[in-house]
Amino acid sequence: MTKVAFIGLGRMGHGMAGRYLECGFTVAVWNRSKAKAEDLIARGARWAASPADAADGADAVVTMVADDEASRAVWLGQDGVVKTAKAGTLAIECSTVSHHHVLELARELRGRDLIYIDSPVTGLPDAAASGKLTLLVGAEPADLSRARPFLVPLSTTIRHFGAVGTGTVYKLINNLMGAIQIAGIAEGLAIAEQAGLDMKLVLEAIETGVAASPQVLRHSKRMVARNFSGATFTAALRHKDADYAVKLAESLLADPLLVGRAAVQAYDKAKAFAPDDDEGKMIEIVSRAKAGNAK
Ligand code: NAP
Repeated sequence: MTKVAFIGLGRMGHGMAGRYLECGFTVAVWNRSKAKAEDLIARGARWAASPADAADGADAVVTMVADDEASRAVWLGQDGVVKTAKAGTLAIECSTVSHHHVLELARELRGRDLIYIDSPVTGLPDAAASGKLTLLVGAEPADLSRARPFLVPLSTTIRHFGAVGTGTVYKLINNLMGAIQIAGIAEGLAIAEQAGLDMKLVLEAIETGVAASPQVLRHSKRMVARNFSGATFTAALRHKDADYAVKLAESLLADPLLVGRAAVQAYDKAKAFAPDDDEGKMIEIVSRAKAGNAK
């Protein structure tokens, strides 16, 4: 059996680790808080005392944690993966982290003879749990071939963008575009509500018009209904991704991103308001009526 260490059992990582169990891998799991691992342990995963313990003897280490800080801690921190991972181990970062961090981590891990690839994902937690993610990969072709048996259980689509870091570049673009669209639809709906439009009609027009993406269609219904149940992607995560994307842009482009920066500001407010709630909840801030508005 092939041994995989899975680190980070949040909304996404929990389902992804479960996929390895379903596919017959020998799985060691670690999460900062152990409670999220209990059912995986009951299904046959080994609980590891630390990321280093999880990586001990593993053929591949897969991480799915929140951000750069968390990623640095699990790979390079005290009791991090590098303490035990053997030369030639695949190091697969699925978290959405900054481009700068990916390049730095790749250098560090290559220096220790690990094979690093970035493989951030698109898809919601249900896709993670059912092996239906899209993986956005940055890797040398030979490294991707070696990693493929560990990627297939997670995904229906593997998009190889090029060398290490390129998967993350695309992921950050993708999520910045999402941030802009979601912030935009919140503002559009807020105007419509305060102007007294029939919101059922507004939704119908959005659905049949040309301005909406799948992202906008999903969020507009939830925003109008103020239904934020089953939060899949939080304001804090969206803010992090948009911020990483804008920082990447600043390292590449002469002019600042006007729209991207505005999205970061919008999510700054949404994060301050309800960091761990669904990102769409920003409508509650945006739609506050101006004092004296008759509606
Ligand atoms: P989540 O439920 O908030 O889980 C975050 C994970 O990171 C948890 O395992 C958490 O541990 C761990 N973590 C946070 N800070 C840490 C630290 N300092 N040290 C060690 N571990 C730490 O988030 P998620 O939705 O699963 O997202 C995980 C990653 O996938 C993020 O990079 C996100 O941007 C990306 N992503 C999410 C979605 C989505 O729909 N949710 C889709 C695509 C990509 P605890 O459990 O102990 O808090």
